[in-house]
Amino acid sequence: MTILDGAKVASEILENIKIKIQECSQKIGFAIIWVGNDEASAIYVKNKLKKCDELGIEGHLYHLEENTKEEEVLNLIKKLNNDNNINGILLQSPVPSHIDIKKCFNLISPLKDIDGFSNISVGNLSLGVPSFVSCTPKGIIRLLDYYHIPLKGKNVVIINRSNIVGKPLFNLLIERDATVTMCHSKTENLKDFTLNADILISAVGIPKFITEDMVKDGTVVIDVGISRIDGKVCGDVNFASVSKKASYITPVPKGVGPMTIAMIFENLMATIK
Ligand code: NAP
Repeated sequence: MTILDGAKVASEILENIKIKIQECSQKIGFAIIWVGNDEASAIYVKNKLKKCDELGIEGHLYHLEENTKEEEVLNLIKKLNNDNNINGILLQSPVPSHIDIKKCFNLISPLKDIDGFSNISVGNLSLGVPSFVSCTPKGIIRLLDYYHIPLKGKNVVIINRSNIVGKPLFNLLIERDATVTMCHSKTENLKDFTLNADILISAVGIPKFITEDMVKDGTVVIDVGISRIDGKVCGDVNFASVSKKASYITPVPKGVGPMTIAMIFENLMATIK
């Protein structure tokens, strides 16, 4: 069994980005919009800003109060779309429930949409047109490629159908000639599907959801889930038992998470002409 070391691969990608930035005369501006005070978001925002400092990127945080009106968020996005000092815009999710996040994502200029969530970016992805691709699915594919894990003709089972993970991942895998099955909470007899997977990608958010009996010998297991037990981060997969059957497996932390961050900055670099 081989550990898919997302932390190592991500740090190599970020190191290359740092070199490119040092060689680049242009300043790079990254705007993060954070509405409210979600605890997990606080950590994610802090980490992204820290990474900006390390890489030599100008990180700009727009931290808005929980009760900010949707219109104010939309106006800020419009302003940042027209700001020449800003290359990429990221709206941290979740946002408070009175704000329509899809509307906000869709207002971000497709030229600055480094999260790949605008309708144009999503549409392009589903049509196979080059565009910004959302970072977690892109990071998963990059990790599989790094370890030369073939996708063509393989049975890939994704447990997730969200707009940020399952759907873009489905499109990326189809483009790479995988046979993709997408499961979710209404899937009956989930185990029948997971046992048929050459590559199993779980993004459910329930700790230890994937158990040894759900996985055949030699499966590549990608754990996207992030949960916390007693403050400690853990994934969807019962790592101790499943890793005995898997050929390759991502740990949590240090698997998919760092790859997501690396892809945000890779997308940001793609905004530079
Ligand atoms: P989400 O929208 O809540 O998606 C969860 C998915 O799991 C849904 O499709 C849901 O099905 C499915 N599901 C829930 N219970 C299930 C069950 N018992 N059996 C089968 N499927 C079930 O969440 P998300 O935003 O996509 O994120 C999913 C997980 O990935 C979370 O833990 C999140 O923290 C993590 N995540 C990690 C990264 C990273 O960089 N590592 C990035 C993004 C997300 P329905 O559609 O039917 O509800």
